[in-house]
Amino acid sequence: MAHELPALPYGYDALEPHLDAKTVEIHHDKHHQAYTDKLNAALETHPELTEKSVVELLSNLSSVPEDIRKAVQNHGGGYHNHKLFWETMGPDGGGEPEGELKTAIEKAFGDFASFKEKFTNAAATLFGSGWTWLSTDKAGEVKIHTTQNQDSPLSEGLIPLLPLDIWEHAYYLKFQNRRPEFIQSWWNVVNWKEVEKKFTAR
Ligand code: MN
Repeated sequence: MAHELPALPYGYDALEPHLDAKTVEIHHDKHHQAYTDKLNAALETHPELTEKSVVELLSNLSSVPEDIRKAVQNHGGGYHNHKLFWETMGPDGGGEPEGELKTAIEKAFGDFASFKEKFTNAAATLFGSGWTWLSTDKAGEVKIHTTQNQDSPLSEGLIPLLPLDIWEHAYYLKFQNRRPEFIQSWWNVVNWKEVEKKFTAR
């Protein structure tokens, strides 16, 4: 079974004015589609892997045959990272997390403002193309970290909760080189309910 591009959970313009419709459309329909297609193309050469989920593959990259391991890392990562990215944004976003996740963030960073500052700084200073994450371990200890290219926290044994795509394709149309403005805008569309759900389900 080939992997399918997950439908956007909202319209292209749903994240306006923070993230513009044109960027969301191209990012989802072209970039995310391309990762999906290239993941499928790689897996076609190893039909025995087509029944495995992308989460399984990314969590055990060393068990993926060497000739397609890099393709699965790049395009499987791209496929899954973008799925998480769309899921954790929404038109009624912003604000702060509640419940168990709020407690975990306060335990790790002191308070939400310190978490936000640390995450923003990690995203602003990441060199090259990659992602900034809030991830957790099974025990619920959360951390901020970055990955290069399309590498997934799953491949480091972590469970991704909140991704921020800081490839230029995520913001260049609207923000050009102003990455810090993009990061500030993105906070307004974070769907904390979904992030909390992922934390509870870890
Ligand atoms: Mn992207």
